[in-house]
Amino acid sequence: MSTLNTDVIIIGGGPTGLSLACQLIRYGIDFVLVEKNDTFTPFSKAIGVQARTLEIYDQLGLATPAIELGTIANRVRLIEGGEVRGEMHLANFGRDMSQFAFLLMLEQSKNEELLYNFIKSHNRDVLWKTELENFSQDASGVTAQIKTAAGESQTIKGMYLAGCDGASSPVRHGLGLTFGGSTFERLFYVADARIDWELPHDALHVALAREVFTAFFPMPGEDRYRIVGTFPEDKDEEPGEVVYQEIEQQIKEQAKLSLEISDVRWFSLYKVHSRRVNKFSKGRCFLAGDSAHIHSPVGAQGMNTGIQDAYNLAWKLAFVVKGMADQTLLDTYNEERLPNAQRLLDSTDRMFELAAGSSWLMSFPHDDLSACRGVRGEFGIGEQASVPVDLADRDQLPQRCAERTHR
Ligand SMILES: Cc1cc2nc3c(=O)[nH]c(=O)nc-3n(C[C@H](O)[C@H](O)[C@H](O)COP(=O)(O)OP(=O)(O)OC[C@H]3O[C@@H](n4cnc5c(N)ncnc54)[C@H](O)[C@@H]3O)c2cc1C
Repeated sequence: MSTLNTDVIIIGGGPTGLSLACQLIRYGIDFVLVEKNDTFTPFSKAIGVQARTLEIYDQLGLATPAIELGTIANRVRLIEGGEVRGEMHLANFGRDMSQFAFLLMLEQSKNEELLYNFIKSHNRDVLWKTELENFSQDASGVTAQIKTAAGESQTIKGMYLAGCDGASSPVRHGLGLTFGGSTFERLFYVADARIDWELPHDALHVALAREVFTAFFPMPGEDRYRIVGTFPEDKDEEPGEVVYQEIEQQIKEQAKLSLEISDVRWFSLYKVHSRRVNKFSKGRCFLAGDSAHIHSPVGAQGMNTGIQDAYNLAWKLAFVVKGMADQTLLDTYNEERLPNAQRLLDSTDRMFELAAGSSWLMSFPHDDLSACRGVRGEFGIGEQASVPVDLADRDQLPQRCAERTHR
């Protein structure tokens, strides 16, 4: 089989790899994108799209379709003891900083579809069902061995390679980079469901209780929400042992909320990791997205940060490939994204500990939103770059989701 030659080899067709391909199309840079799955994710996964990501989408002409497909949450309501205790308008924070001063709720599957359609509309495509087997690099370029959809081995030669291949990243392993950090012991759950309650569908609702934390993100569709929450600290069940009815009971008892949960379409349990690489690049190879950083879901930042990594990397690759800048420009990718990842881990760890711990009530005087000072940064308003978080068993999510999908 003939060798494929390209400028940039992209491994992984999640939101990060698809975004990198879209950006390279903008700059007229050739790429080959290989993805081992047969299409983009069918699972809702990430739900929050932040201001900076929408600014990036706007440059691709995708902000308007994304907003039309999604639901806008322009405020955060804090609930304690079953009562609304405070409300924060996200627009008040970001009004002078971004035209998208709100949090857009749009499932990861729909973000990936939008990005993929952009690629297709420019007569490019992803090599689906194609898997990276190994790769090597020297001073002149990178050589990747892939297994094609037909099961054959093929060689791709590129000037550069980007590992957008998720938390378990074969590229990161191949480069011998470390992925240091920690795993939180507390069990989290996530569910996409219909909720019948008194509260309006226009805000992110956060319910604070002594032992648990629960967040309700409005999703497209009537009364549909993404519910993310913690179990009490002493909970030590295996994922298969928990049913979502238990969660409904917990919300009613702990958060004192009067609600009915039904039509659960996705339900999963996980532990949260907080990890990052020691370096975002080695030679001609780069990491972006979850391959470089994972963290708690508290700030809804994983997908957003991957898209922003790709944005940072793409224009630098374009300048260097076109001979308009020296190769040392590429060093600034690591110099900028590594501290960004560290800040992301620090802030999401802090938010997570606050959310998962029992300190909410002490730090939350009624009618006082001082406990939410970190929220603006967490939602990417006023930040030109955002940061990373991880869900522990993320690699197993699709399988678990499939096992526990209720329709
Ligand atoms: C329940 C849940 C809720 C979340 N909520 C949010 C949120 O609200 N906001 C947010 O920003 N983020 C959120 N996230 C995080 C978000 O889903 C991830 O950060 C995001 O998927 C990372 O994108 P990625 O492209 O870097 O990696 P991935 O999406 O993991 O994509 C990596 C791709 O690489 C492919 N791959 C791996 N190895 C190979 C190989 N050898 N050859 C070819 N292909 C390969 C994989 O098949 C995969 O498609 C959430 C995640 C979950 C699970």
